[in-house]
Amino acid sequence: MSEIVEKLEEESLVYKTLLESTKAIPWRIQWDNLSFSYIGPQIEELLGWAPDSWVSVQDWAERIHPEDREWAVNFCVAQSKAGVEHEADYRALTKDGDYVWIRDVVHVVRNDSGEVDALVGFMFDISERKRTEQRLIELQRELEALSFKDGLTGIANRRRFDSVFEEDWEQARRSGRPLSLLMLDIDYFKQYNDTYGHVQGDYCLKLVARVLEKTIRRSQDFLARFGGEEFVLVLPDTDAGEASQMAARCHALIEQEWIPHERSMARKSLTMSIGAGTVVPMHGDERLSFLELVDRRLYQAKQRGRNTTVSSED
Ligand code: GH3
Ligand code: MG
Ligand code: MG
Repeated sequence: MSEIVEKLEEESLVYKTLLESTKAIPWRIQWDNLSFSYIGPQIEELLGWAPDSWVSVQDWAERIHPEDREWAVNFCVAQSKAGVEHEADYRALTKDGDYVWIRDVVHVVRNDSGEVDALVGFMFDISERKRTEQRLIELQRELEALSFKDGLTGIANRRRFDSVFEEDWEQARRSGRPLSLLMLDIDYFKQYNDTYGHVQGDYCLKLVARVLEKTIRRSQDFLARFGGEEFVLVLPDTDAGEASQMAARCHALIEQEWIPHERSMARKSLTMSIGAGTVVPMHGDERLSFLELVDRRLYQAKQRGRNTTVSSED
């Protein structure tokens, strides 16, 4: 008999040594009184809290980052009650007041009659993985900034506009053909967001981009989101009369779409104001001054009551 006990003790010593020398930190919670019956000594090295300071689940909950606590506790309690194995990632508080990203993997132990008896699990230090994830997110943002596509509407972005406008400007200067530009700005869009919410506002911007795309009939015409609720159309080889027709088509298609806008002063549906300009660039003509000229006309369109185009100085 004593031989068996000796053997068992020896075996459990092997398990204990194995458990306590791995990087994963083992723990056990007794379900009936929700208290720790075991936690690996490695916890002290990782978080600074000694094993005997982990008494109840309350201690565990208090050592979770306030932003993660409610979610993590509710999730783990609900899963455990349902008897479901689960895992949760959260930031654990260290004794020094820092935080470490933890993945807690939880198994449910049942007694012979199938009731939950205990929870056992492992805590893993996943801070390195989280740092990599964070770096990836940052890289993705940088890529977006370098790209030529507007993230929301999918049409060309401001960066792409800058290079297309420069190319078309040079082309027009060389060929002596007129280049036209339309700057379009949604009327009372702040009120639109205030009335329908920012998410609907985003949806509206996508819709407006789709409608403006429909006005394009020639491959050289180019549409971009200039920023916020402003769009721009670059129309090479287009004189002032044709540019006005294009602006009229924009107003008409937006009206036809009839996007409800209760609080618009212009009409009960969404409208846009347009500044238009045409130029045959000469040597020494400034591209940016032309852009400013068109922008001033857009401002005049706003002053004239919106839902209109201004294409000359009078
Ligand atoms: P105006 O008729 O004079 O053009 O007035 P406005 O309200 O359209 O112009 P204002 O410049 O006062 O406000 C622009 C609004 O556009 C405010 C801003 O929150 C909103 N906006 C800009 N970009 C976005 C976006 O990406 N999504 C959403 N939902 N709203 C945006
Ligand atoms: Mg604007
Ligand atoms: Mg506006």
